[in-house]
Amino acid sequence: VGGLRRVFDLSKPWLNRLIEGGGRVTLTAVDGVDFSINRGETYALVGESGSGKSTIAKMAVGLLPPSAGRVSIDGTDVWGEKGADAMRRMRRKIQMIFQDPFASLNPRWRVQAIIEEPIKAFGLIADPKDRAARVGELLSLVGLDARDGQKFPHEFSGGQRQRIAIARALASDPQFIVCDEPTSALDVSVQAQVLNLLRDLQERLGLTYLFISHNLAVVRHVATRVGVLYLGRLVEEAPARELFAAPKHPYTKMLLDAVPDIEMEGKERLAIAGEIPNPVNPPPGCHFHPRCPFVMEHCSTETPPAHLVGDAAVRCHLFAEDRAKT
Ligand code: SF4
Ligand code: MG
Repeated sequence: VGGLRRVFDLSKPWLNRLIEGGGRVTLTAVDGVDFSINRGETYALVGESGSGKSTIAKMAVGLLPPSAGRVSIDGTDVWGEKGADAMRRMRRKIQMIFQDPFASLNPRWRVQAIIEEPIKAFGLIADPKDRAARVGELLSLVGLDARDGQKFPHEFSGGQRQRIAIARALASDPQFIVCDEPTSALDVSVQAQVLNLLRDLQERLGLTYLFISHNLAVVRHVATRVGVLYLGRLVEEAPARELFAAPKHPYTKMLLDAVPDIEMEGKERLAIAGEIPNPVNPPPGCHFHPRCPFVMEHCSTETPPAHLVGDAAVRCHLFAEDRAKT
């Protein structure tokens, strides 16, 4: 995909452990994208467009085949899965919420039919009356009225439509939900409501989220841990509190500096220098070197390894102690 090789290894037996409790989800990519998600937490993957975050999201839920390598869950290759039953069981536990609720809901279906569809597809409730009752439950779970099931998507606001999409995602009783920019198509005034809803649902239902976003203000609101992605590489990974209090990678600092936030005021401001380069042909060495204010000579030739700094992992030569001393 995009010329970037990515291999994922959702280390086993995460799915069962995720379901039974206390599990971790691990994603490994040859480009250095390597992270695990603990049950009940929100792992935010942050980056500009072209960073590869949506690609990773789609691969994680099995919507997009990797161009090289494989996506595996519980030791099982998502794309090589044999047998419709096994595939269905896995799919049921993983759902995705997309950026654009306008595009993701069928405009000709009533909300009832939209939310009912996964319940039917997974064969969860056979009786139509019981199914209707379940749809009513799901609607109230996301803050809508059971009678809203009789309406069509166009009769709702953007925020309400995203609630409908969330209800549909919950219909199969998933454990792991990938949220791909779930609020970025919404008015700022309703973004916080939808984020709060996602948080409440996480608490009530014990959900685990992979949260994809370009918006650090949004990420700050929801994330337990954050991975910062730049051209297919994870350049910094840290617990959310640490990342926002003490960002380390020059790119993370640049992103944080671009966040309009009162708490950030008074800090030295770095303009985001230059456009994001073409991900198909990323700059050699540290991919970020053409935009980095701290660039050193070897940055354009040597790929930085991940250095552990506190609880963070940072891919930047500035944190190589041996280098700093010479
Ligand atoms: Fe900047 Fe060099 Fe660090 Fe890359 S490795 S972020 S170019 S200092
Ligand atoms: Mg995207």
